Amino acid sequence: MKSQANFSLKSCNSFSFESVTSCIYFPESLDDLRQLSSLTNEPFYILGEGSNTLFLAEKAPVIIQPKFMGTSVDECDDAYLVSAGSAENWHQLVTYCVQKGYAGLENLALIPGSVGAAPIQNIGAYGVELSDVIEHVNWYEFATQTLHQLSHEQCQFGYRDSVFKREKRDKGIITQVCLKLPKAWQANISYQGLDSLSAEATPEQVYQRVIEVRQAKLPDPKVKPNAGSFFKNPVVSQQTYQQLVKHYPTMPAYQQSTTQVKLAAGWLIEQAGLKGIKQNGVGVHDKQALVLVNHGEGTGAAIYELARNINQQVFSKFGVSLQPEVRIVSASGLIIKDGFNG
Ligand SMILES: Cc1cc2nc3c(=O)[nH]c(=O)nc-3n(C[C@H](O)[C@H](O)[C@H](O)COP(=O)(O)OP(=O)(O)OC[C@H]3O[C@@H](n4cnc5c(N)ncnc54)[C@H](O)[C@@H]3O)c2cc1C
Repeated sequence: MKSQANFSLKSCNSFSFESVTSCIYFPESLDDLRQLSSLTNEPFYILGEGSNTLFLAEKAPVIIQPKFMGTSVDECDDAYLVSAGSAENWHQLVTYCVQKGYAGLENLALIPGSVGAAPIQNIGAYGVELSDVIEHVNWYEFATQTLHQLSHEQCQFGYRDSVFKREKRDKGIITQVCLKLPKAWQANISYQGLDSLSAEATPEQVYQRVIEVRQAKLPDPKVKPNAGSFFKNPVVSQQTYQQLVKHYPTMPAYQQSTTQVKLAAGWLIEQAGLKGIKQNGVGVHDKQALVLVNHGEGTGAAIYELARNINQQVFSKFGVSLQPEVRIVSASGLIIKDGFNG
C-alpha cells in the first residue's frame, strides 16, 4: 500500500492549518484495507478532502486517506443507479451527472469534498439532502475485515447525521456510494435564491443557479480558508421556540415536526453581535456568521477557542447550545464529539 512518513496536511484541510502526521496511508484495494486493520489500535483519522475537518494541533494522528476511484452507471426502468468510489470529488460527480442527463443532484452542486465523506454528515443544501438519493453505501469494517453493503435504512440518516458519526464511527471506511436518481424529475426550487427560477427550469439551469448563489454567499476556501458552516443549526423543542419567539419575533425558524423546530445558527451568532469579529488570526466571516475563517495567521486551537466563545455567548443570550458540524481532530486522534464540553 502507498504511504508517506512525516506528511504535512496543510494542503489537505480547507482551513489550511499546518499539522504533520507521522504517517499517511492511501488504501486503494481490499488488500490494502486488510493491512490497515492491524494499525487501527493506534490513534488514527480517516481523511477525505479535509473540507469538514479542523486539525487542532501541529501534530496529527496517523491518517488514512482512501483512494477508491471510478464511476459507473446502471439504468433500470425508472432510475439511473450511479456508483462512485469514495475518493471521487463530489462536485465533479454532480457535474458529470448533470452533463449526462441524470438529474437529482443539482441542488448539491459545489459542496466541497469527497464522495466518501458525503454520507457521513448526510450533506445537504438548497432543500435537498444526500439521503434523498442514496441507494446504498459500501463500507469496509476493520473488526471483521469484511465489505458490507449498507442500505439507506442501515445508514440511519438524520440532519447532518448518520450511523457513521455514531455506532460506526472509526469502525470502518466507506469505499463506494451508490445513488438512485429517478427518471421522473421535478425541479426543487422552493429554497430562497432558487425561487426566481421558473417551474420549467432544467437540471442544468438549477445547477448553474446553485453555483452562482453559493459563489456569491460563501467565501472560497482557497482565498479565505474555512470549512463552510462551522456549527449545525440547533433543533429545539416547540416549547423553547415559543418562549424565544416572544422575545425575538423576527427569529428565523423551520418546523421539523410537531414537536421540534430548527433555528438558524448564523442568525443567533449575528444577534449575539459576533459577526465579523477577529481574534488571534481567526474570525467570524463578515458576510456569513456561520462560517469561521483563518485570516492567514491563525491556528486550529484559535478556531476552537473562538468556537467555544461563540457557543458561550449564544447560550447566555438565547439559552441554546451550538454543536460543531466540523470534525475536530486532536493530536491523539480523538475527534472531540459534538458539543464543547466533552
Ligand atoms: C466552503 C464550504 C462550503 C460547504 N458547504 C456545505 C453544504 O452546503 N452542505 C454540507 O452538508 N456541507 C458543506 N460543507 C462541508 C463539507 O463540504 C462536507 O462535510 C463534505 O462532505 C466533506 O468532505 P471531505 O471529503 O472534505 O471530508 P473530510 O473533512 O475529509 O472528512 C469529514 C468526515 O468524513 C469522514 N470520512 C471522510 N472520508 C471517509 C471515508 N471514505 N470513509 C469513512 N469516513 C470518511 C472523516 O473521518 C470525517 O469524520 C462545506 C464546506 C466548505 C469548506
